[in-house]
Amino acid sequence: MKVYVTRKIPEAGIKKLKDKGYEVDINPEDKVLSKKELIKVLKKKPYDAVLCLLTDKIDGEIFGAVPSAKIFANYAVGFDNINLKDAKEKNVVITNTPGVLTETVAEHTFALMLAIAHRIAEADKFTKAGKYKGWEPILLLGNDLSHKTLGIVGLGRIGSRVAYHAVKGFDMKVFYYDVRRDEQFEKEYGAEFESVEEVLKESDFISIHVPLLDSTRHLINKERLNIMKPTAYLINTSRGPIIDEKALVKALENKTIKGAALDVFENEPELAPGLAKLDNVILTPHIASGTEETRSKMAEMAAENIIAVLSGQTPPNVVK
Ligand code: NAD
Repeated sequence: MKVYVTRKIPEAGIKKLKDKGYEVDINPEDKVLSKKELIKVLKKKPYDAVLCLLTDKIDGEIFGAVPSAKIFANYAVGFDNINLKDAKEKNVVITNTPGVLTETVAEHTFALMLAIAHRIAEADKFTKAGKYKGWEPILLLGNDLSHKTLGIVGLGRIGSRVAYHAVKGFDMKVFYYDVRRDEQFEKEYGAEFESVEEVLKESDFISIHVPLLDSTRHLINKERLNIMKPTAYLINTSRGPIIDEKALVKALENKTIKGAALDVFENEPELAPGLAKLDNVILTPHIASGTEETRSKMAEMAAENIIAVLSGQTPPNVVK
């Protein structure tokens, strides 16, 4: 069996594939392959499987270049980079890596939330620049998380784990919006189910955890940013296009909201003009799942999905 891996991933996953006796070809360059390059490389051998990343745009043309491939295993839980309709038409199985990254992404979400509210990046810059001349009563004042309200948009695996930290660790009141209601969760966490508008209106912190779909693209737009409190912070570790980034920059510049912390961007790796100049934002380069432990587990999971399909079994993480 032959597997193509579109970029170097942690060894744990590669080892699993090689232990099965599979021939594994890995993109030797440390960069994303363009569509043209990927098509060219996939045409070279009759690969049985492809392990791809969220930075690879996978559609009918790509499937057409490697008709022997039965599975494209995405090294991510999100799969908005893959055209599922084309995959279905070509009879290609698509899998993702849910669950193994939930705790890590929730931790990163909290790291961002704490960092923006406690002005960690600004304070770090200030201190390293030698500006600290002694304790001051009103130096770099931030905001507490404890006892505040947290609005969760998308209460799935990651959103629920963020709620867990908020309630158990910070006594926060949780409001949430999702396409489905979870009454058990509400009981357990004292949470309230609301419309997206109500969540935005009532929350001191808003954290986005919906997948990128047609229905969630620009879910947070100019009008909805206007509903937020001027003291509120917006956190996004989901997908960039869920927020209208230009409108967000305006809201931050005009201080109609207090701050934002983002791990994902509308046109990655580019940032909306003005975003990087603002002090009231913290930006990380799409690393919310990026711990050594989790990236290895993701690699193993993607490999297990490939092994299942190539062994004639149903893989554990099929995406429909
Ligand atoms: P999940 O499927 O468990 O949760 C998504 C939730 O969103 C579900 O509860 C679903 O009902 C809800 N939802 C779907 N469409 C909706 C809509 N139109 N309006 C409101 N709610 C809607 O997924 P998850 O594992 O929690 O991951 C969530 C997303 O986080 C992924 O899709 C991915 O894009 C993103 N993610 C980002 C990183 C990162 O590195 N920054 C890492 C992992 C995941």
